[in-house]
Amino acid sequence: PLPVVAVVGRPNVGKSTLVNRIIGRREAVVEDVPGVTRDRVTYEATWRGRRFTLVDTGGWDPDATGMALRIAEQAQVAAELANVILFVVDAGVGVTDSDEAVGAVLRRSGKPVVLAANKVDNQQLEIEASGLWSLGLGEPYPVSALHGRASGDLLDVVLDAL
Ligand code: GDP
Ligand code: MG
Repeated sequence: PLPVVAVVGRPNVGKSTLVNRIIGRREAVVEDVPGVTRDRVTYEATWRGRRFTLVDTGGWDPDATGMALRIAEQAQVAAELANVILFVVDAGVGVTDSDEAVGAVLRRSGKPVVLAANKVDNQQLEIEASGLWSLGLGEPYPVSALHGRASGDLLDVVLDAL
C-alpha cells in the first residue's frame, strides 16, 4: 500500500484547493456541491517520482451544531489512518477554536504533522503565518493553494516526513 497523507483542518481553510493543486485536477471540489457530503475523499498523487495516497477530509456543514467536535473527531480518524498529516490553517484568519481543537488532537497523535499556513497569497502576507506557531506544531509553512505559491516547497517537507 502507498503511504498516506491526510489533509485536515476546519472548513474553508483551502484543503480541497490544496488537494487539487497537488493532484493537478479539479475533482476534489465535487464534495463541496450542496447535498454531497462525504467525509473523506482519497486520491493518488505523485511528487518527485514518489507516489502516495492523499486524503481530503471534511464534508462538514459549517452551520451544523457541534461542528468543532466533529472536526476534532475527523482529525482523530485521519491521524489514525495517515503516515503524515497535513494540517491546513487560514493564515489570514489566524488560529480559531476549531484549529486549536484539531491541533490538540494532532499533537496527541504522535504522527508527524506538517502545518500549512494557507492563503498567504503574496510576500506581504507572510508575517501572518508566524501567528500559527502558537499551535505548538512547529514551523508554519506559508503557501497559497489558490495561486500555487510555495506549494512545491510544502510538498517537499511533507515527503521528507513520510
Ligand atoms: P476547504 O473547505 O478547506 O476544502 O476549503 P476550499 O478548498 O473549498 O476553499 C475555501 C475557499 O477558500 C474557496 O473560496 C477557495 O477559493 C479559497 N482559497 C483556498 N485557498 C486559497 C488561497 O491560497 N488564497 C486565497 N485567497 N483563497 C483561497
Ligand atoms: Mg473541502
